[in-house]
Amino acid sequence: MIWNKSKECMSRDEMSDLQGKRLHKLVELVYHNVPFYREKMQALDLTPEDINSIEDIRKLPFTTKQDLRDNYPTGLQAAHQSEIVRVHASSGTTGNPTIVGYTRRDLEIWKECSARALTAYGVTRNDVFSVGYGYGLFTGGLGAHYGVEYVGATVIPTSTGNTDKHLRLLRDLKITGIACTPSYALYLAEAMERNGMTRDDICLRIGAFGAEPWTENMREEIEARLGLQAYNLYGLSEIIGPGVSYECVCKNGSHIAEDHFYPEIINPDTLEPQPYGTTGELVFTTLTKTGMPLLRYRTKDLCSLIGEKCDCGRTNVRMTRIIGRSDDMLIIRGINVFPSQVESVILDMPEFEPVYMLVVDRVNSLDTLQVQVEVRKDFFSDDIGGMLQLRKKLADKLKSVLSISADVRLMEPNSIPRSEGKSVRVIDKRQLK
Ligand code: ADP
Ligand code: ZN
Repeated sequence: MIWNKSKECMSRDEMSDLQGKRLHKLVELVYHNVPFYREKMQALDLTPEDINSIEDIRKLPFTTKQDLRDNYPTGLQAAHQSEIVRVHASSGTTGNPTIVGYTRRDLEIWKECSARALTAYGVTRNDVFSVGYGYGLFTGGLGAHYGVEYVGATVIPTSTGNTDKHLRLLRDLKITGIACTPSYALYLAEAMERNGMTRDDICLRIGAFGAEPWTENMREEIEARLGLQAYNLYGLSEIIGPGVSYECVCKNGSHIAEDHFYPEIINPDTLEPQPYGTTGELVFTTLTKTGMPLLRYRTKDLCSLIGEKCDCGRTNVRMTRIIGRSDDMLIIRGINVFPSQVESVILDMPEFEPVYMLVVDRVNSLDTLQVQVEVRKDFFSDDIGGMLQLRKKLADKLKSVLSISADVRLMEPNSIPRSEGKSVRVIDKRQLK
């Protein structure tokens, strides 16, 4: 099922045409309403009349997270305060939160994108859907919530932090769909097993997971333990929230709602736009938002775009999984390391729980990487020889994937703290010194 064929299945020419027209209107809006953008455009000798097609986007300036901070709290707002009907803030994973104001129209767009995503996963009005993202300033909860209602399914606003109650509701209300972070999905699976429940006691069939990077191995793990089909849901509050892109049943990249959010991939060093298939920093222009529209916003998320047609019939461009944020990337002894690389190795080995922590430090001016990982109950033993062997097996695999050696620490089951929202998997002590 497709929620909005007229926008999700357009020909490429029609889409470019629509994007070009919307871009022109957007530029007019920010030029006249946001002094920050007018000044930036004036410095480049640009007026709205110079922007007439989507290709002209390359003439426009970028916007960074720092620009949002410099204009905190509402300096980049294009709408008058009386037009703003809701405010959210980014989670502040990597610094101070940024404030985002939404007009009534922005909330309509968001709801529409959220409904497109849920429909792409197969959610219908017959589903009973639990939203396990946090409700509040974070966009996850309310973003998914309004999409579920719009599709016509039953929404259960469980939010985070009620795990026991959540499990009971899953069983008693025969909940069929769930949205939460992938790490919380695993936490729920663990809690279920602790409570003596199995996946046969619940009816989940669809999961919408996002708000943090996750891997294919993690998908398999969640699907096996909760007995559902797990799909990716991507978004960020600066652009709108969850629903910027979403997987379809082909599970091969996430379709971008590009009639609203125009994507580009740039080389983060040269800022040059990159062709489809090349990994770089994802950049979005909000083509239709009126509260806090952004020109060429640098997300710091790293991925590539997929131009080929998808078997599901949608024509919208897809993006690959996020391999990490450019500021997530650890540079250890000069080598680039993403936590997601460690995750794939760990989840490939049946001996480990999908719970790990990276501790980076600097000892005698040499960087060190410690990887803490929980051994599954069935594999944990007092046999020191066996444990040492397991440790070496993991260390060798990590070395071949990362090209640097890691000090592996095998941990008892349930000894690493779980997270209900976005998980913290890296402690970089070098920054604390
Ligand atoms: P913050 O940047 O403070 O975490 P948000 O709550 O708006 O603010 O989170 C948006 C970010 O979360 C994205 O830029 C991205 O890094 C991450 N994210 C969201 N969805 C996904 C996803 N499906 N896969 C990977 N990362 C994601
Ligand atoms: Zn598709």
